[in-house]
Amino acid sequence: MQFIETRGNDGKKPSSVPFSEAILSPSASFGGLFVPSSIPDLDRDFLESHISSHYKALALDFLQNFGIDIETSVLQEALDRYDGFDDPSNPVPLSQIEDDCFVAELYHGPTRAFKDMALQPFGFVLSHLAQKRNENYLIMAATSGDTGPATLETFKNQKGVKVACLYPDGGTSDVQRLQMVTEDAPNLKVIGVEGNFDDTQNTLKELLASEEFKAELAQKNIKLSAANSVNFGRIIFQVIYHIHSYLELVRKESISMGEKIYLVVPSGNFGNALGAYYAKKAGLPIEKILISSNVNNILTDWINNGSYDLTTRDLMQTQSPAMDILKSSNIERIMFDKFGAERTKELMEELEAKGKYQLKSDELDNLRRDFDASFADDSECQTVVGEYAKKGYILEPHTATCIGAYKSLREKPLKTIIYSTAEWTKFSPAVSSALGHTVLGDIEALKWVSQNADVSVPDMINGLFDKPIIHNIVVDKKSIKEEMLNFL
Ligand SMILES: *Cc1c(COP(=O)(O)O)cnc(C)c1O
Repeated sequence: MQFIETRGNDGKKPSSVPFSEAILSPSASFGGLFVPSSIPDLDRDFLESHISSHYKALALDFLQNFGIDIETSVLQEALDRYDGFDDPSNPVPLSQIEDDCFVAELYHGPTRAFKDMALQPFGFVLSHLAQKRNENYLIMAATSGDTGPATLETFKNQKGVKVACLYPDGGTSDVQRLQMVTEDAPNLKVIGVEGNFDDTQNTLKELLASEEFKAELAQKNIKLSAANSVNFGRIIFQVIYHIHSYLELVRKESISMGEKIYLVVPSGNFGNALGAYYAKKAGLPIEKILISSNVNNILTDWINNGSYDLTTRDLMQTQSPAMDILKSSNIERIMFDKFGAERTKELMEELEAKGKYQLKSDELDNLRRDFDASFADDSECQTVVGEYAKKGYILEPHTATCIGAYKSLREKPLKTIIYSTAEWTKFSPAVSSALGHTVLGDIEALKWVSQNADVSVPDMINGLFDKPIIHNIVVDKKSIKEEMLNFL
């Protein structure tokens, strides 16, 4: 399987690359992204053959069907990372919350958010490739709270890769900050930045564009890679849990093999939803993928009327910060798949020049064959969290945005899977207040919710508050370059 580029080829880069190259150097011609040249077929036989498979066996077969240039033994070792999840026999359990609605819990990994699903095996594969080529890579991440911890966790003590993680000081929850600043390994650097997430992200962009910084990296023989969902190495692992969740419904005898279902995906950069789209395209019986957002609902507009318009919006802070995103990177891969490289380049250039674009009506019809969308504001989510807590199930704010989509968007009475992207322990103050108790910090919220809703807090969260702080640097934007150079 070769990988091609969403905005076409500029004649300078190779016209296609293998998987290994696409994940080590994820930037493609004209600022585009890498995509597989085709998607493997998952026919009925494939699904039948995995009806009693372990998650790892399904994953391995899927990856082998993709024909990527990574040895089987390396893939196996990468997938062994799922053994560190709560239940090694099933890393993604499914809970029933309504007669026809199930929650696929993607958060049972080490950092309690769904980023672990892809980053855990991806980190192993990337580090393996770096060592095999005798190369050194730097991964820089600007995080609003979930990507940072998961990136640090997957690469800690791995050879051939260093990680520098920037977070907005005061802009994350206590748990998220502690997950980063207590990570202790010589190849990791965590820096707090004075300012909000936008400031942090802009600082990172400036640094990446700085000639002095590039020269320094070249002199030290360090190459840059990326671990956000522009890297296809993350997306490929995000197709698998959609197949697994479907098979779980069959195993529970809630559906019969071949029966169609709805998926509801709380979305930001659209990596999770893109994984669902590829699963549908490969043949998984999905009626539609329902996209839920918070009030930063640019995806709702895109799917409902084909307009993508940044000019009329300011980013708003919500209780679901991992979805506080206006430039959603992975919808570019959907547009490539549906409209081709030439049109994708045209639309993305229009977005860069004018801050907006409008799909044509036939393009919108095409998009809506696979997707529908809605959004929920913080107060709706608070109500939803409160309602389900009374029924004995604790949702967190990102997942809570899905309930409205589940209730309002389905046109057929089909079984539905909602994806839960984080454990409540990562967003405990919002959950506590939804349950009627407003608190000041995470410690109090964790205690109160666990006592009053009778749910436990896992050891890796409780333990954070006693761990020594390793990274205590908080700097203003100007000092970042110096800090980075010291680290390298
Ligand atoms: C990253 C994240 C999302 C958004 O996922 P995308 O793949 O970027 O759409 C949603 N919820 C949580 C908790 C996340 O960490």
